[in-house]
Amino acid sequence: MRQRFAKPPTPVRLRAPPLFFLMNSIDILLKNALVILNKNKFIEKGFIGIKDGKIISVSEKEPENKAQEIIDLTDKIISPGFFNTHTHIPMTLLRGFADDLPLMEWLQKYIWPLEAKLLSPEYVRAGTYAGLLEMIKSGTIGFVDMYFFEEEVAECVDKAGMYGLLSVGILDFETPYYKDSKTAIKKTEKLMDEYKEHERIKICPGPHAIYTCSKETIISSAELAKEKGARIHIHLSETKKEVEDSLKNFNKTPVFYLSETGIFDLNVIAAHCVYLTNKEIEFLKDKRFYISHNLTSNLKLASGIAPLLKYKENGFFITIGTDSASSNNNLDMLREMKLISIVHKVKELNPTIFSAREIFDMATKKGALAMGFEDSGEIREGMSADIVIFDPYKENTIPFYDPYSYIVYSAGKGSVQSVMVKGKWILKDYEFKTIDEKRILRETKEWRERIKNISL
Ligand SMILES: [Zn+2]
Repeated sequence: MRQRFAKPPTPVRLRAPPLFFLMNSIDILLKNALVILNKNKFIEKGFIGIKDGKIISVSEKEPENKAQEIIDLTDKIISPGFFNTHTHIPMTLLRGFADDLPLMEWLQKYIWPLEAKLLSPEYVRAGTYAGLLEMIKSGTIGFVDMYFFEEEVAECVDKAGMYGLLSVGILDFETPYYKDSKTAIKKTEKLMDEYKEHERIKICPGPHAIYTCSKETIISSAELAKEKGARIHIHLSETKKEVEDSLKNFNKTPVFYLSETGIFDLNVIAAHCVYLTNKEIEFLKDKRFYISHNLTSNLKLASGIAPLLKYKENGFFITIGTDSASSNNNLDMLREMKLISIVHKVKELNPTIFSAREIFDMATKKGALAMGFEDSGEIREGMSADIVIFDPYKENTIPFYDPYSYIVYSAGKGSVQSVMVKGKWILKDYEFKTIDEKRILRETKEWRERIKNISL
């Protein structure tokens, strides 16, 4: 019946494992799963050898070298993990706290006053752990964050065993975390130094946006990033109002205003980019500019829909972010992938664009590259052993024919069976291995009681 498909799935043939690998022993051998190598290739029945946290062999035949542990994954799908390129993970505690409002009203009347009362290291830790539960169970292995007390987020990410590109949100007003933007930048610098050797965690400056930071603050952030060889993480052109205010206050659109700060000489992760103008697109085309597309958040706050097809046609590097659980209200890359594909299809009235494979690539390899983790995002020899195991034989996903279609269009809650990062299980057979699920659920409930009794 294959001829009935417009594009039949095409497994690829791989060569036998190189001889020198036969000499090595393997820590873990995963066998018999369908293995998605990257957006272009998958193999129907694969064998993955893992040693010292790295993938040392990927083949269609069982390797002859000994494995200390063999795991049979017949009927399962192995995929690279997902990278969520924009969130504020501690805000998971505010999931559903204030909905159905425009962005500025939501921020100014609810989120900021509430945060002014709540922000503390304990709050940040509790929110981060709550968010990690959902992220891991939906196959996310790394994320880009911006918040306060980011050293707490870093510790949680480290303990969970995930990847993080974490930034202190730098604002020009006092917060419970710092008295001014200068202190925020100092805190960022200290954290950058602390984590400079870490293999899974990177720190970068996060000047929040042009409407919350002065030009000087953004310049200082850029200088720090330049000095340390780091990225910059910023919100950009999220709403029409932001662009109109920029024209009114600076006589320039946001990108041209920001171009005077030096940030575009660096690697920039720009969240939202709903309203880039044609001139801005032309200017940014050749820059090291990574778009984090946050569709659910932009839809829910009615900010608009980014012209993703235009960005793609101009060669932009597009990645996927969820934004926080208080504006999304999930941190689930599976939901986000499906939505992006179908919303842009209908926006352009063209069902052939933004295929499952293309969206999958944005969530995996492109996300890993945007975050600077070049050895993740695909499955091949020499890459870090970062994998997600899916069980497609569930009531909401049977049957499946194409693994990319399965992941992007039908996989969801309950699909992710196990997650491994750098050879270490962080979820195994639906059980968390690095964080304490029961404790997190209990503490989140306690925080809910506290939060709902706060009067604003
Ligand atoms: Zn954001």
